[in-house]
Amino acid sequence: MPYLTPQQARLRDDIRGLVKGEVRCDELTLQLYSTDASLLQCRPQAVVWPRSVDDVVACVGYAREESFSIHARGAGTGMVGDSLGSGIVLDFSRFMTRIMDQTADSVTVQPGISYHYFAIHLYFSNSVWIN
Ligand SMILES: Cc1cc2nc3c(=O)[nH]c(=O)nc-3n(C[C@H](O)[C@H](O)[C@H](O)COP(=O)(O)OP(=O)(O)OC[C@H]3O[C@@H](n4cnc5c(N)ncnc54)[C@H](O)[C@@H]3O)c2cc1C
Repeated sequence: MPYLTPQQARLRDDIRGLVKGEVRCDELTLQLYSTDASLLQCRPQAVVWPRSVDDVVACVGYAREESFSIHARGAGTGMVGDSLGSGIVLDFSRFMTRIMDQTADSVTVQPGISYHYFAIHLYFSNSVWIN
């Protein structure tokens, strides 16, 4: 069980009470999410893996009330540190990766879907993709 300061434990428990996704505030997780593919570093206060739009709405509401910034994150491959921040990181790449709907000329996806998976889906559904 990772050690948490009382403030970290409170923040984790607050957010866990609001979302169905996972929440971490331990040092190892915060260190992992302090970097991306850039040379920059910025340590967040919490990392949340939302499972649904409701989770995202709850996190944004909590962040507004408690004056935390929100930082959306996909694969963390941005090269200018743009997924880093000192508030709450929302990592969409674990749970919110589904293809929701497809019509003849559009596809609706969740925000954490990877480019690779999306391209494979289009290939096997015989869809034309203008890149
Ligand atoms: C080796 C390498 C090669 C690369 N080659 C290319 C290339 O050829 N072409 C190219 O364009 N880029 C390239 N990049 C840059 C990088 O792959 C892109 O910037 C990539 O699209 C970032 O996606 P990500 O999911 O990793 O986003 P992240 O790095 O996680 O985030 C990037 C930004 O998007 C925001 N964001 C992430 N998810 C969401 C969301 N769900 N809602 C709102 N905002 C969100 C973040 O807050 C942040 O501001 C390369 C990077 C590396 C490391």
